[in-house]
Amino acid sequence: MTELAERLRRAAETAGAAGLDALLITPGADLQYLIGLPADHHAGYGERLTCLVLRAEGPPVFVVPRLERPGHEHLGLDSLGVRLADWTDDGDPYATVASLLSGSAAASVATAVSDWMPAVHAYRLREAMPTARQVLAGPVLRELRMRKDAAEVAALRKAGEAIDRVHARMGEFAAAGRTEAQVGAAIAATIVEEGHARAEFTIVGSGPNGASPHHDVSDRVIEAGDIVVVDIGGAVEEGYYSDSTRTYCVGGEPTAEVARVYAVLQRAQAAAVAAVRPGVTAASVDAAARTIIADAGYGEYFVHRTGHGIGLQVHEDPYIVAGNDLVLEPGMAFSVEPGIYLPGRWGARIEDIVVVTTQGCESMNRRPRELVSL
Ligand code: ZN
Ligand code: ZN
Ligand code: ZN
Repeated sequence: MTELAERLRRAAETAGAAGLDALLITPGADLQYLIGLPADHHAGYGERLTCLVLRAEGPPVFVVPRLERPGHEHLGLDSLGVRLADWTDDGDPYATVASLLSGSAAASVATAVSDWMPAVHAYRLREAMPTARQVLAGPVLRELRMRKDAAEVAALRKAGEAIDRVHARMGEFAAAGRTEAQVGAAIAATIVEEGHARAEFTIVGSGPNGASPHHDVSDRVIEAGDIVVVDIGGAVEEGYYSDSTRTYCVGGEPTAEVARVYAVLQRAQAAAVAAVRPGVTAASVDAAARTIIADAGYGEYFVHRTGHGIGLQVHEDPYIVAGNDLVLEPGMAFSVEPGIYLPGRWGARIEDIVVVTTQGCESMNRRPRELVSL
């Protein structure tokens, strides 16, 4: 609880330093981070405005539909110093938000809306405050959310251990003769069974489908000897995500070509993890993986960034990508997931989540990184 109060205080302070009068935050990962309201609180949330008005000066106000007010009592907003302002269906919540900011020099109010606020709310807020400046809150909140505290790292560790247990059981699910969709369904159930609150994604890319990095599942029947990319994750109760990829050879042994290309990928992934430490840039971690793959002649087949931050969202800052000069600091959490994709043939990816420590990094995932035959 004191943790959340401190986050609210720092967010308000950071907003003020950025010249903003208020952050306007609707349900989602940002709101979960600030007041503990789960991002998946309940369906139908998008239509009626629920919005934390986090002012640089003055107490934060949580604007909620009156009919949903009872659902927020467990949050203990009082003790966080957050006031509640409810509105009824015949009222105008956007005017309520505007009135909370009218004390600020009227014509020059500067607001920042959460990056994932539905456009309908952002647009109506703009109509209610036509002269206000409206920017995205992402750059402000990223400064807080990127640096995980001990409790957040513990939740990521718990998620990592849970997804490792799912990969450890892959021999129960993946077999020649089964479709990717069947394997995916079994994995999704196991993600929950092994300690997640919910499964978020199950990518099972067999044979040529493995060459499509964000393939989902399909009705393709896995054939003996297929290379299968399995990229899976879910959220634990605390809201933090796992995300781990291993590549398997199902019902056979890899060809000499597969073994050779996979060895390049494994070297690249290990080199990128070894490059992670405080003081280096995100771009340098991407380069560590990319150089090895390019030098081996497969540069054009590594078609995505090396990694993405992870926390209350599966993809968040910091992004491990060329051009990102962000300097890594202890507590930053992200994936290291190079891949090599040979169109129409097969693909492979190895993905671990790492957290930057004072010396280097700690991996949340510990499963073998070799190409495992099932
Ligand atoms: Zn992805
Ligand atoms: Zn992944
Ligand atoms: Zn990922």
